[in-house]
Amino acid sequence: MTLDEREQISLVGAIGSTAGALLRWGVANHPMTMALGDIKGHASIRQLVGRAVTRDTLPPCLVFTGPEGVGKRRLALAVAQLLNCHALTGEDQTGPDACGACRACERIQRGVHADVLVLEPGETGAIKVDAVRAAVEQTIYRPFEGRKRVVIVDDADRLVPEAQNALLKTLEEPPDGSVFLLVTSRPHMLLPTVRSRCPELRFGGLAPGDIVDLLVQEHGFESVAARAAAATADGSLARALEAGSTDHLQARESATAMLRALASAPNPRQRLEAGKGLVDVRPGRKSSPAADRETLTRRLRALSTLFRDLQVLASRGEVAWLSNVDLAPDLADLARSYDTDRAQRGYVSVDRAVQALTRNASPKVVVDWLTLQL
Ligand SMILES: [Zn+2]
Repeated sequence: MTLDEREQISLVGAIGSTAGALLRWGVANHPMTMALGDIKGHASIRQLVGRAVTRDTLPPCLVFTGPEGVGKRRLALAVAQLLNCHALTGEDQTGPDACGACRACERIQRGVHADVLVLEPGETGAIKVDAVRAAVEQTIYRPFEGRKRVVIVDDADRLVPEAQNALLKTLEEPPDGSVFLLVTSRPHMLLPTVRSRCPELRFGGLAPGDIVDLLVQEHGFESVAARAAAATADGSLARALEAGSTDHLQARESATAMLRALASAPNPRQRLEAGKGLVDVRPGRKSSPAADRETLTRRLRALSTLFRDLQVLASRGEVAWLSNVDLAPDLADLARSYDTDRAQRGYVSVDRAVQALTRNASPKVVVDWLTLQL
């Protein structure tokens, strides 16, 4: 992008001059066609996102995670084109796609579309708070030349904590007409508060539905156990197979039971009682400190997927975004007790509990603490 173009944009008010200097637009070296249908692999992600755009149910924020160099950023730009293309093409199974050739597609391609902002680390290797504030300021206004404003944060793990907090404020009350796409191979570097707000789409790994199919067809899992396993598998079939099918199912059952017991916010004594289910050893299971710790970690992982699902429901997201889609009716029931703030607090507390466990904290102490937070 030349200086002239940048000035032009700032003149028309799409971007302030300070903001223009802080936002990077480095997309010029990508191949010309960038529609969803041109992207290799990630078929289920393309389909999910494409359908959500068509139905106007795309969440206001998504995290694209997965290994480096598999096309996450490219797919984010394809979403930006699909949201803003003037001449949608194709009516195949995945629905309409961007044409890749109209003025909007072309301007997004060149990185000069006023409504598609790409933030990436500057020379310091970090994305600073000023850059985020500048982008967030744009989202206050209606899209300038397109239908939707798209803020792509590439290498989002490089956002300094202050910048993440600035972003979080926007995610708590997402502006109409704007979509945030966070791209990262290190999602654990994002604040739990940010992660809890944004459904994650994992690239490179397998989609939960694909894992469910493999577990059922090739590993003899019952469908419900396969879903419980896939919800915490992080896109990895191997991880889903680390524990047996009944272990996954029991982990999720324990987590769901505790959420139910705590739903009405009982007194501290009842809370501690409710937590016992999380550390119970099932009859007939062998018990050792290491095995108990592993079991508890699995139950906590299941719990955090439930909290994220509750936030999806609280923001009226589609059932398709749920990790535990087969529990949709139970989750809808729980959502009456766990509003978005409570679910977010829960997710963050579970994250801390898992970290404490990995640092060898006593399972009982961790669970007691957790039940008092939820
Ligand atoms: Zn187009």
